[in-house]
Amino acid sequence: MFHGDNGIRTRDLCVANATLSQLSYVPLPDYYNTIFLFFNQNFCVSPFIFFCRKRSVFAEYFSGVRSVPGTRSYVKGTMREMKTVIMAGGLGSRLASMTADMPKPMIPIGGKPVLEYEIESLRDQGFTDLLITVSYLGNVIMDHFGDGSKLGVHITYYNEETPLGNAGALLKLRNSLTEDFLLLNGDAIFDVDLNRMVKFHQERHALVTLFTHPNSHPYDSGLLVADENGAVLSWLAKEDERPKYYKNRVNAGIHIISPKALDMALAKNGAPLTAEMIGTKDAQTGKVIKIDLDRQILKPLSGTGQMFCYDSPEYVKDMGTPERFLAVTEDFLQGRVQAKNLRNSQRAIFLDRDGTINVMKGFLRDIEEFELLPLVAEAIRKINASGYLCIVATNQPVIARGEVTVPQLAQIHNKMETLLGLEGAYIDGLYYCPHHPHKGYAGEVPELKIDCACRKPKPGMLLQAAQDFHIDLAESWMVGDGENDILAGKAAGCRTALVGHGAFGQDLSGESLADVVEKILG
Ligand SMILES: [Mg+2]
Ligand SMILES: [Zn+2]
Repeated sequence: MFHGDNGIRTRDLCVANATLSQLSYVPLPDYYNTIFLFFNQNFCVSPFIFFCRKRSVFAEYFSGVRSVPGTRSYVKGTMREMKTVIMAGGLGSRLASMTADMPKPMIPIGGKPVLEYEIESLRDQGFTDLLITVSYLGNVIMDHFGDGSKLGVHITYYNEETPLGNAGALLKLRNSLTEDFLLLNGDAIFDVDLNRMVKFHQERHALVTLFTHPNSHPYDSGLLVADENGAVLSWLAKEDERPKYYKNRVNAGIHIISPKALDMALAKNGAPLTAEMIGTKDAQTGKVIKIDLDRQILKPLSGTGQMFCYDSPEYVKDMGTPERFLAVTEDFLQGRVQAKNLRNSQRAIFLDRDGTINVMKGFLRDIEEFELLPLVAEAIRKINASGYLCIVATNQPVIARGEVTVPQLAQIHNKMETLLGLEGAYIDGLYYCPHHPHKGYAGEVPELKIDCACRKPKPGMLLQAAQDFHIDLAESWMVGDGENDILAGKAAGCRTALVGHGAFGQDLSGESLADVVEKILG
């Protein structure tokens, strides 16, 4: 319902749109932990609870609210905010050379532990109720952070003396996890608009929401396969057999989890488990009972329609190996981690598909005909490294004409992502226009035979992407091999580049995508 650190006016708008079914709470950044319950004219609790830090801000806000129909009064309530659980018990064995006497989350970047950056980022977004699970050298973490008051948060700890599996502690803590909570790894570097993710989770009434993103090595990563609404259909571990062509969609290790999912995991494991049994020896096998988050809690929710992928291009990387640690550190110090947070405006390079990314073969209907042009993966890798988002915008009138179905088109795009992924390149988003304005083809889909706002040369797809990814179009580029691409780019207010020859008013031209990208990035 509320989103990130929007200005006051945006929030007023949210309030006006709220309905009774949306009774909810949302932590807002930089506000005191005070809740104001609003009542409607019948003195029923109105659909929102509002956190406010500064009285002046509240006064300003409230003056806006008074004008919202149905809102009349308020009372002060008690604080409820989404709890955050940070798993900081990792052994760090792969980083042993760097972490001989410290747990992984305490590795410093610029003199400050990784976990401290994580906590500050949470605090700045209004997540101040933290529960940290520790085991290996946990005292180092507890001594450093204490109760969290120095950082403006409240921290409690769960010290796991016997290893319980990475989710055993969650089940032990079941009674204090009474509402949906955020679950993070203590050894990842990220900067993510968490309130945006919470909003996504709440809108879908999800049991679990997984933060997912494309990465540069999908071929050896676990993958999530989801339907067009983002509901997870299957959970493929690294070693699982995968389809020939797949979407580059990897679990980044940031989750929102309902405690109901924990109960389901307890109930599901053969004979029902109780939290007390975890960490004790199984009477039959003699082995300590442990719980694995991915395998025992999350994966079984695939195909239930209750677990969703939240796709985002924001920065999340683990620091599992010394090489990765160095790369992540460099990104952090250069500000590349922070810049990708969707609260900050983004720059994009939009790419046409046919003739720009893949070899033009008329209207592409057969997946076998999809073939990347030379050096395209290399060019997209450069875009990925540049900080620009890479977003594909393509007209696909073959859908309206009934020549390709939506699932077939998805497969063609899976092939594109797979081929790019094999070369370490990825796209951050993909938009296609399925429409076509001219009627009268055999087999056409009548409802798609419209004069839409998305078919290039119209800018609809770019405008939609700008909204979805907080893109500053004036700082962005549209690249394509046709006049329609250049006109769409111009209509959206982007700079434009043509692959090939022609004079359509573009800002620059090149022989290939690689050539154009080289010129744009300099
Ligand atoms: Mg084209
Ligand atoms: Zn369209």
